[in-house]
Amino acid sequence: MKLNDLKHTHWQLARRAEKMNPSVIREILKVTERPGIISFAGGLPSPQTFPISEFAQACDKVLADDGRGALQYAASEGYAPLREAVARMLPWEVDPAQVLITTGSQQGLDLVAKVLVDAGSRILVETPTYLGALQAFTPMEPEIVGVPSDAEGVDVERLGALSKDARFLYVLPNFQNPTGRTMSEARRSALAQRAAELGLPLVEDNPYGDLWFDAPPPAPLSARHPDGCIYLGSFSKVLAPGLRLGYVVAPRAIFPKLLQAKQAADLHSPGFNQRMVAEVMKDGFLDRHVPTIRALYKSQRDAMLAALQREMQGLDVQWNTPDGGMFLWARLPAGMSAIELLPRAVEKNVAFVPGAPFYAQEPDLRALRLSFVTATHEQIDRGIAALAQAIREQARC
Ligand code: PMP
Repeated sequence: MKLNDLKHTHWQLARRAEKMNPSVIREILKVTERPGIISFAGGLPSPQTFPISEFAQACDKVLADDGRGALQYAASEGYAPLREAVARMLPWEVDPAQVLITTGSQQGLDLVAKVLVDAGSRILVETPTYLGALQAFTPMEPEIVGVPSDAEGVDVERLGALSKDARFLYVLPNFQNPTGRTMSEARRSALAQRAAELGLPLVEDNPYGDLWFDAPPPAPLSARHPDGCIYLGSFSKVLAPGLRLGYVVAPRAIFPKLLQAKQAADLHSPGFNQRMVAEVMKDGFLDRHVPTIRALYKSQRDAMLAALQREMQGLDVQWNTPDGGMFLWARLPAGMSAIELLPRAVEKNVAFVPGAPFYAQEPDLRALRLSFVTATHEQIDRGIAALAQAIREQARC
């Protein structure tokens, strides 16, 4: 008799697992892998920007210098020279002892949630916000409250009423995912001031801040109020996401707890990758490399803006002009749903991400996110023309 025949195994899911959902974006990305689809849906950096030969050289060097060390278990805090490089890179006084190297900034979000959120805790997010953060926070069973936001991010005036007992406000001041919007100097200053008055901790996520097009964005919130902020950074958008390396800069009061959560999660982030990044970065490589990414993404943003201008004539479609990053945010004509439009667009071989999953509460069904960084100019032209055609047809239904 097979053991399986004895009794039906009863898998009882934890409440937190019940709350986990497949990422809508990942589901859409599966469709976009179909040959011939022009995808504005993904959140992937352009692979053209990955510095392959620099990594090949760094790989040889790391193995030749101390291969055994590179392949051994390592410190949970991260590789010391990399922590020092991160501290030096940031535009405010950061002690390397406050830098925790993480397995992507996505892990930073998970650790922050584990350390700061109980079931029922209130946390505040922008409207809309990064879907991956909602995914990281949700298993802790918080009450997630979207703070009303405008073209610059959260409405600071609304924080007082919403922030009572809130564990933190999660913000993306630079070229936000999904909207591409940026917080002005005035808004940052008001937000840092108000958060300090309210005693409201801030979690500042900044994977896109270096990818500005014309001028660098204003200083991070963390630079204004370091004791009141946890800062998350990433090597995914300036080097390569496959490294899975990011970092958290945390106030001393909270660092040891994040470290303990990190130990439980994965002991440490890949030491070999950390050494390669430290090697690649030394001698100011990022100062030469990042401007090439900026130039490429800016030309792609411009191509998408021009295509939208040309193709959306006569359609009541709105879009913004992001000053950096990878995404543009658009709004369909009144009454049209981006979720309903998507299958028609995919039929025409173009894909995007509907905005709805990025909202903690009531979604804007007309909103959609367009990534401009992985398509060529020619694909952008064809893709936006196909999208306009899909919108025209949908408007007739
Ligand atoms: N935060 C934001 C806002 C993002 O857009 C992303 C990547 N999509 C991440 C965090 C996670 O990036 P990584 O884990 O690759 O550093």
